[in-house]
Amino acid sequence: KSVFAMRPESNFSFQDTIVAPISAAGVGAVALLRVSGQQAFEICNQLFKSKKLADVPSHTVHFGILRDMAGKPLDEVLITVFKAPNSFTGENVAEIACHGSPFIVQEILRNLVAAGARMAQAGEFTRRAFLNGKFDLAQAEAVADLIAAETEAARDAALSQMRGGFSKEIQTLREKLIHFASLIELELDFGEEDVEFADRQDLRDLIYELRGLITPLLTSFSYGNVLKNGVPTVIAGRPNAGKSTLLNALLKEEKAIVSEIAGTTRDFIEDELVMEGIVFRFIDTAGLREGTTDRIEAIGIERTKAKMQQAGLILYMFDLQDIRDVEDYISHREYVQSFGVPFLMVGNKADVYLPDELKAYFDSVAEEVVLISAKKQLHLEDLKNHILRKLNIGEVRAGNTVVTNARHHEALVQTDASLLAVLDGLDRRVTGDFLAMDIRHALHALGSITGQISHEDLLDNIFSKFCIGK
Ligand code: GDP
Repeated sequence: KSVFAMRPESNFSFQDTIVAPISAAGVGAVALLRVSGQQAFEICNQLFKSKKLADVPSHTVHFGILRDMAGKPLDEVLITVFKAPNSFTGENVAEIACHGSPFIVQEILRNLVAAGARMAQAGEFTRRAFLNGKFDLAQAEAVADLIAAETEAARDAALSQMRGGFSKEIQTLREKLIHFASLIELELDFGEEDVEFADRQDLRDLIYELRGLITPLLTSFSYGNVLKNGVPTVIAGRPNAGKSTLLNALLKEEKAIVSEIAGTTRDFIEDELVMEGIVFRFIDTAGLREGTTDRIEAIGIERTKAKMQQAGLILYMFDLQDIRDVEDYISHREYVQSFGVPFLMVGNKADVYLPDELKAYFDSVAEEVVLISAKKQLHLEDLKNHILRKLNIGEVRAGNTVVTNARHHEALVQTDASLLAVLDGLDRRVTGDFLAMDIRHALHALGSITGQISHEDLLDNIFSKFCIGK
């Protein structure tokens, strides 16, 4: 029976000493197990007799043999000792580097559990680090993002969040507001007396300043979101419009093909392409043809349409030779628009055909249409710029904080709404208690980002998304 089945469903305590592999599953030269908790050293010493780990200095490595309870050798290992509070979790930590066979890992885990440890829950190491003040919540979430980062840009965003850049900005915003909140609360204590400790104009100025800081964070989310999750992209259009030719041209140009992806969750996806640090996941839509009579093909089309509705971006390709006139083009555009997804009209085969009437019209709506030749690879750079503009990601300046987490974004939206309510209250000259209420809402929303304000169920929700060993 797998030791993972020993994981307790309930009644677990953060007082327990926990253990889990922290290296990837599967066969490697070396595997790493982490034991964390007050009893970490004593539990390890039941299997490891070479040295008393509680007595060695922190941050030292010790070689020896691990033996099971009956004294039979399990493996030769290296144990690194981290003493509380100077460890990842803030607790006593022993990290055991053993040989990487899954059998050995299982046996060591089983014996550590027999010696008094229990299997860690998903995300429990990071959660303990949070509870022990090693991280705030935003930083803990960044650990998960960092591990999942697929591109350099995604890694940079996660790394800067983990190092606390984002948390510091949030903290600064909160401190400024707290100052005012306390002045207004003070006014309330004076009740009847008509005093104003908090200068209303200063408060107004502060709200403007805060909103000035929050707005770029809010706008950065559209970039942050695609940075973290990639953009599911559909190249749609009639047969022979040049869709495969374009995809091949893009993939060749970028030389950054992420090879085939296994699994059913991404079953429509053929290729991935990284542009400007963003992963574009191209979804195959073979068979999008209007008015087909073939039933099987019709089912394919329904699926394709469903995929188009879920896309983050539709590149709608048309062969310029297929367009009769401006009106015809507009009907194509309206069709694409009906999916309610950001889209770009891509007129192909501009190398062979472009009548003046159409050209004049396209010039007048240059934002929505790009003319290219997929085959001759003309204006692909132009196409790329259009795409990046369409995703609204040009605004983010290098070095600026990028919000990548939907929970943080939501909290910032709430903060901003509360700040607007404060401004509105100031305009209407409401009494201090109403202002105080809106300021408290804003503080609450900001505090929820870093976990200064948090609830058990929110923490459960966040940390359960980690996997075992994080
Ligand atoms: P799909 O059915 O939309 O995937 O279209 P294909 O990519 O298979 O292209 C259909 C035909 O159009 C092929 O013969 C291509 O060589 C041709 N074609 C694609 N792009 C261009 C282009 O920019 N100019 C010209 N002249 N022909 C193109």
